Amino acid sequence: MEPAWLEHLALELPDAVVVAGSDGRLVWGNPAAERIFGLSNADIVGSDALQFLHPEDLELAVASLASVLDKNVGSPIELRVKTPTGWKLVELIGANLVGKPPIDGLVWCFRDLTERRRWEVATNDIERFRSLVHNSASILLLLDRSGTVQSVSAAITRMLGHDQALVEGHPLEDLVVQADRPALEAALSSAIDGELAEEGPTIVEVDLRRRDGGVPVPCELSIVNLLDDPTVNGLVVSAHNITQLRSTRDALERLATRDPLTGLPNRKLILDRIEQMQKRGRRSGHDGAVLFIDLDQFKDVNDSLGHRVGDDVLRQTAIRFQGALRETDSIGRLGGDEFVVLVEGSGVHDAEAAAQRLLESLAAPFAVHSAARPQLTIAASIGIVSGAYASAEDLLMDADVALYEAKAAGRNRAVRFEPQMRGEFRTRIDLERDLRLALEGGEFFVVYQPVIQLSAGTVQSMEALLRWRRPSGLVVAPDAFIPALEDSGLIVDVGAFVLREACRQTRHWNDAGFPTAVSVNVSPRQFETGTLVDEIQSALEESGLDPTSLILEMTETTLMRDSRESALRLMALKDLGIRLAIDDFGTGYSSLAYLQQFPVDIIKIDRTFVMGTATDQASTALVHALIELGNALGLKTVAEGIETIDQLMQLKHEGCDAGQGFYFSRPLEEADAQRFLAAAVDGVTTGPVPVTL
Ligand code: C2E
Ligand code: MG
Ligand code: MG
Repeated sequence: MEPAWLEHLALELPDAVVVAGSDGRLVWGNPAAERIFGLSNADIVGSDALQFLHPEDLELAVASLASVLDKNVGSPIELRVKTPTGWKLVELIGANLVGKPPIDGLVWCFRDLTERRRWEVATNDIERFRSLVHNSASILLLLDRSGTVQSVSAAITRMLGHDQALVEGHPLEDLVVQADRPALEAALSSAIDGELAEEGPTIVEVDLRRRDGGVPVPCELSIVNLLDDPTVNGLVVSAHNITQLRSTRDALERLATRDPLTGLPNRKLILDRIEQMQKRGRRSGHDGAVLFIDLDQFKDVNDSLGHRVGDDVLRQTAIRFQGALRETDSIGRLGGDEFVVLVEGSGVHDAEAAAQRLLESLAAPFAVHSAARPQLTIAASIGIVSGAYASAEDLLMDADVALYEAKAAGRNRAVRFEPQMRGEFRTRIDLERDLRLALEGGEFFVVYQPVIQLSAGTVQSMEALLRWRRPSGLVVAPDAFIPALEDSGLIVDVGAFVLREACRQTRHWNDAGFPTAVSVNVSPRQFETGTLVDEIQSALEESGLDPTSLILEMTETTLMRDSRESALRLMALKDLGIRLAIDDFGTGYSSLAYLQQFPVDIIKIDRTFVMGTATDQASTALVHALIELGNALGLKTVAEGIETIDQLMQLKHEGCDAGQGFYFSRPLEEADAQRFLAAAVDGVTTGPVPVTL
């Protein structure tokens, strides 16, 4: 072969070839060497070959050199060589031509491995990827355009028991339970249509069948369309087991739609159901009815027996209500002591019957864990609404209005909504708001009406009566706002105010030389909260009033609400040394039994009977009987509402101890009341205050 041809070969060879002298210095390099090392031949010639090597590879290079020198030809080694653009990986093989002219040196051939190695790394990645796929907890599938499984990962066997080979070649649909097939189909075609491709994978939840026919496994499939990718050419599906996720999600869903205390649907769900019922009503023409239920005086249960007992009562109530409903009705708890019942597609008559059953379900007393009161009776008020509404909220608003009417009408009853109720309700809401402001703004004050000892003509006590001076200056009497104070619970704070005021004022009068007692009215709600004894005690301590100078007035209804508990409360009050009066006596139960059971000191005969005394026989007879009853039981009797001298004379004649009424005086503001006391005392410095009868 011609030398020129050989030289040409050396110059065109893609592998680098360099020749080193026996001293290790380079004497020649071919153009490929220049290219690979990024050096010109001039730079190569004369340089030390070892200087190009990576320090860590020097040892290997020296060993290889030794072997080349020894055996003339070495085995290929991989080395890193320095180039102006960074390290390059090369394969090196040497030949020993030392002493063999014309070369007389070592010939080294290099091949640049950098590119190849990169490719090899990629191949390793694929291996790693295979292993990942094989061991993945999710099932990975490759489908063709028709949805047939081309290949599937081993997880299919672990998760569902299917043999990989038996799944391949079959439609993915075969793995999915019947009910979820349409969803899968829709998801596959949406993935294929590709519109969503840019938004990420198509997600669908399906239940996958197990080979053994066991409970299907809920899975989330994510489908990626790689039909256009030549390396994949299919749909890549990963199926992820979401059993755990689903149960967590279900729990969350329950949390979001269930009332945790009773397990009943919560406000959100019940509003939803009302809307659905309304929709059905629009289609069928049969609007269902909604019952809005609120337990009566439930706040008092919470206040006096604690929240645990309150919660227990709510749970028991939920169970009783559920038992009272038909299969088609549904019930939810709005919060607090408010429940809602949906009576499906029926007339108002059915709704009223359902309301009646609910009320009856509460008739038997509740057993509760309370040492103070092991049994408890709870009633409820119900507002009924039916008809078409724009929204569930609107419907509930009217139901609330009807509920309010039920409360106002005396509780423990159901009332059907009528449109004219709306206006009345607004005023009630306004009133409650105004009362709250009145309490904060100090608009309440107390007036005093003298109670006269009839035989001596002295002032024996003053009855403290609440008044409200509105910002307009108008003074409002309690009958107009006491019910609203009761309903809103404000009575507790307002009542405490009256107590403090009355004790303070009376102590002041006593100090000024007018030895009068004071009587204060206590409302049912106030009596039932556990704080009354404390309030009285602190009012007495604050004012320094002698406890025997304080009389509490309560109606029979207040005491009869829960007689056992009331008796205990009254004992606690009596222990403070104060006296108790039954107000409006004769209008309630007038039961002898309770007069004996309760530690009562005074009965106040209701004005309605006093009014007729001296003019109508029946009233006179009744007043006579009441006074006799009082005397027999050793109680003092006070006649309310004496307006005429005839009434007064008659009552004196019957042996009534004391009297109160416009005949003596209207209720008076502080200064006038003091003037009344002063006028009555008229020279007498000690003892009861005599007045002219
Ligand atoms: P009550 O305890 O029976 O008070 C007597 C009511 O009869 C008072 O009405 C008084 O002004 C009125 N009255 C007195 N003498 C006569 C009379 O000769 N003829 C007529 N027609 N009426 C007479 P008032 O002040 O409007 O109080 C009404 C009711 O409001 C009271 O009835 C009492 O139940 C309640 N109340 C008043 N103040 C308070 C209070 O501070 N707390 C509570 N819880 N209730 C109160
Ligand atoms: Mg009274
Ligand atoms: Mg009265």
